[in-house]
Amino acid sequence: MSIVSEMENRVWSREELMPRPELRALQLQRLRDCVERVSRVPFYREALNRNGTTSEALRGLDDLRRLPLTTKEDLRRNYPFGLFAVPREQLVRLHGSSGTTGKPTIVGYTADDLDNWSTLCARFLPSYALNLAEAAAAQGTDPRSLALRFGHFGAEPWTEDMRCRIELAFGLHAFNNYGLSEVTGPGVSGECCRRNGMHIQEDHFLVECLDPDTLEPVRPGTPGELVITTLTKQAIPLLRYRTRDITTLDDSPCACGRTGMRMARVIGRSDDMLIVRGVNVFPSQIEEALLRVDGTAPHYQIEVDRPGALDEMTIRVEMRPEKFTDSFAALEQLRRDISRTVSSIAGLHAKIELVKPQTLERFEGKARRVFDRRREPGRGP
Ligand SMILES: [Zn+2]
Repeated sequence: MSIVSEMENRVWSREELMPRPELRALQLQRLRDCVERVSRVPFYREALNRNGTTSEALRGLDDLRRLPLTTKEDLRRNYPFGLFAVPREQLVRLHGSSGTTGKPTIVGYTADDLDNWSTLCARFLPSYALNLAEAAAAQGTDPRSLALRFGHFGAEPWTEDMRCRIELAFGLHAFNNYGLSEVTGPGVSGECCRRNGMHIQEDHFLVECLDPDTLEPVRPGTPGELVITTLTKQAIPLLRYRTRDITTLDDSPCACGRTGMRMARVIGRSDDMLIVRGVNVFPSQIEEALLRVDGTAPHYQIEVDRPGALDEMTIRVEMRPEKFTDSFAALEQLRRDISRTVSSIAGLHAKIELVKPQTLERFEGKARRVFDRRREPGRGP
């Protein structure tokens, strides 16, 4: 049986199929409740007072734009419990971030928050019930011998080519999902059986797609920063949280019947966006290009510099051990293939340097791949 027919009719909650006008009405009602709840938080109370906004003043969803934005920095500044909207005794779980890029943050959940979270995740995992028995019986070390049939992947941006490689290596169907710990962890959006964009769980999250510089909404179908308002969260409700993730929204109907609009794969972080000779480039685009060229490993570094009047981008690419060769002609051919693919995906010319297998630095956790020398002291603007 095909993956589509097997999963087609497995819808967990009625809300997933809610007609959009009904969904919009539910969102507005929940948005008003959310503004009521955040009014208990001094940080939001002050911001709302400054804007002169109250829950009754929200007449339609377009009024969302009158509400204040929230950033990761606001979470850090209010560390540890400044943004909590419920008394401490109602919290049943706390999650702390490691703070690898700055001060740590803490988020919390009430019992209702956890119930909602379970439902949100269950909507994307209807396939699991089919497979638990088989997975439990699985033995052996060859990944293809495991009885895994479905895998759900989130966190770091991954490409379509990476999906193919994972599916081949493990013999399973790989699905994309999206979430972030500040909002709820996994469960914000996920793919249906059509695997053509991740349905946003709009009965719980109200989303916008904004230009990260001007903070104006982007034109439909254009990449922008995803901004999320949590509609049902009790412990830490967030108004217009800037995720820094760049994606594209699509509200056209999906063949699966779910009415939640779909977001494309995250193509990068607004902080990671490089502007090279006026072209916006994301490291994920370079990775996508490298995965398309046989013979390169998924280890690379991007260096941008401005030695003269113009930016120059150099991509250092590690070769796969089995493709490593002394033949100059073969190396030249590989360099040309990479250069052409980068140029077709990212829209600009880069210098390609091939390096021996296992020579680029490896990272635990978040990899550092971009070195922007233009920002170094005494260099560039
Ligand atoms: Zn769908």
